[in-house]
Amino acid sequence: MQMNEIILEAKNIKKHFPIKKGLLLREVASVKAVDDVSLFVRKGETLGLVGESGCGKSTLGRTLIRLYEPTAGNINFDGQDFLKLKGEALRKKRKNMQMIFQDPYASLDPRMTVGQIIRQPMDIHNVGTQEERTQRVLELIEVVGLRKGHVNRYPHEFSGGQRQRISIARAIALNPELIICDEPVSALDVSIQAQILNLLKDLQEKLKLTYVFISHDLSVIEHTCDRIAVMYLGKIVEIAPRDELFKNPQHPYTQALIGAIPRVGHGKKKMKKSLGGEVPSPINPPSGCSFHTRCPYKMDICSQKTPVLEGQANHQKACWLEAAPKMSV
Ligand code: SF4
Repeated sequence: MQMNEIILEAKNIKKHFPIKKGLLLREVASVKAVDDVSLFVRKGETLGLVGESGCGKSTLGRTLIRLYEPTAGNINFDGQDFLKLKGEALRKKRKNMQMIFQDPYASLDPRMTVGQIIRQPMDIHNVGTQEERTQRVLELIEVVGLRKGHVNRYPHEFSGGQRQRISIARAIALNPELIICDEPVSALDVSIQAQILNLLKDLQEKLKLTYVFISHDLSVIEHTCDRIAVMYLGKIVEIAPRDELFKNPQHPYTQALIGAIPRVGHGKKKMKKSLGGEVPSPINPPSGCSFHTRCPYKMDICSQKTPVLEGQANHQKACWLEAAPKMSV
């Protein structure tokens, strides 16, 4: 598939959540969940967002499709200024972007049948006749590997993997171009994860879908994504094509994440031990490079000046080190 055309471009995106206190609910601080992120996604590719829990990757995914309104920045989707869209124009554009959530137990309404769940987006957007919607539901059920006989059953009658298939059917019901997959397999047994990842891959090829794939698990990202953005405390610290990132990780944080992937014949390294400590609070992130409190290569400049994401066109890092440190794993 031709993957040069850019479908989504975000520039300087911030998403800060205010913390309010007192009787007058004055804003006393804010959680800087996403802090000045710029990225683009090409048509037909899978861009991975990876990082530890709390790094802002899910917030960024939701902000890209305006489930959260950004605090600042610009988003261009399919050649249009997405943040300027309102009312009917926004509703129409939203048909083109869907989301698959982490928890297939919580994301499906237990009072609705499978058929009603999959049909709901078509009802909301008034797509086709009643008969056409019924037909489309049956078609989608089979596309995601379930049986037509499942249409009148309820979510609690299904396993986690089957529920995620229902979520996927709902997400593709309106023929979207872009799907944000937010940890779509992390709530599933390892044996089921591969089936769901294969289904997503097949659907991507058949339906020419573009994915933003969010995961804390770099081994899942490695198997799924074309390009990978590594996030730390609300910022992208490194971005590169998958093979390049794994062969030649430049940022000490990326190196630590890769070093923590369990490999056959090697024990899993404890990331917290090798990095020395927890992720700092996004309410009051460290000055300069926010990774400096855990970085084994910290220099004086690191706590004073924030490094920007720069480098080659296809491989960029935000780090004051001129060359990548040698990986010790
Ligand atoms: Fe480590 Fe400094 Fe690079 Fe940050 S800028 S990752 S603290 S070397």
